[in-house]
Amino acid sequence: MRKLAWTAWALAMLAVAPDLSARESSRAKEEPVRNVIYMIGDGMGLTHVSMMMLEEGYRPTSFDRSQNVALITTYSANNRVTDSAAAGTALASGRKTNNGMLGMTPDGETFESMMEKAMEEGWKAGLVVTVYLQHATPAAFYAHVPSRNDLDEISEQFVESGVDVAFGGGKKFLAAERGDGKTLIDELKAKDYRVVYDLQEADAVDRGRIVGLFSEEYMPTVLNGRDENYLCDATKKALEILTNNAGRKGGFLLMVEGSQIDSEAHANNAQGILAETRDFDRAVGAAMDYADAHPGTLVVVTADHETSGLSITSNETDFTLSDSGVGYHFGTTGHSGTMVPVYLYGTGAERINGVMDNTELSKKIQSLMGLE
Ligand SMILES: [Zn+2]
Repeated sequence: MRKLAWTAWALAMLAVAPDLSARESSRAKEEPVRNVIYMIGDGMGLTHVSMMMLEEGYRPTSFDRSQNVALITTYSANNRVTDSAAAGTALASGRKTNNGMLGMTPDGETFESMMEKAMEEGWKAGLVVTVYLQHATPAAFYAHVPSRNDLDEISEQFVESGVDVAFGGGKKFLAAERGDGKTLIDELKAKDYRVVYDLQEADAVDRGRIVGLFSEEYMPTVLNGRDENYLCDATKKALEILTNNAGRKGGFLLMVEGSQIDSEAHANNAQGILAETRDFDRAVGAAMDYADAHPGTLVVVTADHETSGLSITSNETDFTLSDSGVGYHFGTTGHSGTMVPVYLYGTGAERINGVMDNTELSKKIQSLMGLE
């Protein structure tokens, strides 16, 4: 008798199930984005990702987990081929500027980045890179200067940025004594930052403000000795601290840059590109795992531009890698103007797709964060 009642109940539920699941999914669509992990592979074109997939023998990469994709154009205000400063500004702020400029219009009028707007709204913020923290891509999130080369001014603005977590290189620009005998590291400490010089030193830290300065300028590339899990480990540590700082309601923006895909691509060093893209891939995987465990988290993975005009060719081959036998060709030692991919995962992933400009991508993320 009880079994019969259960069967009747199950049948009744089946009958209403389609309606329920439709309602469930529309509710999921409206779920607010509380955390954003914005991952930028500097110089990472679709071919760099394709090369990694080919060389992995199509073992699934983190990119394969993407729930949605888009393509973005990357041109700057004054050049069809952008540099990292103009592209970083577009991704960070949704505004175009000239190559070399950060956080301001070509006329020098400054505007806020999504990170600055988010912090004003009470969000926590972090930066994890493998170059110096004053480099174009991270600086686009906190600095406003006519020249990306003004590293002293960018360093001053970094100290005032208010970010919770920053891991990367660039110690030399913060450690220099100024007229008053103090350094910008002293100023960071006066602002309650823990300053550490090794990622292991951060093990004991699980909340609060922290700056990790792991090299004088650039961190070493993976091929030159950087731990091949650095970006992944640093991303996890930053996520832990931001989660604790943001509290139960959430609310943080973490920018993670696979910075040296670009430098290896400028050097036309195929093994180097592969090593840096794999490091970035592991960090992307950690971000996606975080999104699985923390509903309300959106992961956006993209690039500022493509570097090296890399193509996968059956003739005019420059080199092959490992056992794949696949041929590759470098078209340039500079940047190219091709569109770059956007991979999306987590809450809100279905709300970003199509072909758009890099400024539009930034505006869409800001709108999902409730910043516009
Ligand atoms: Zn570059």
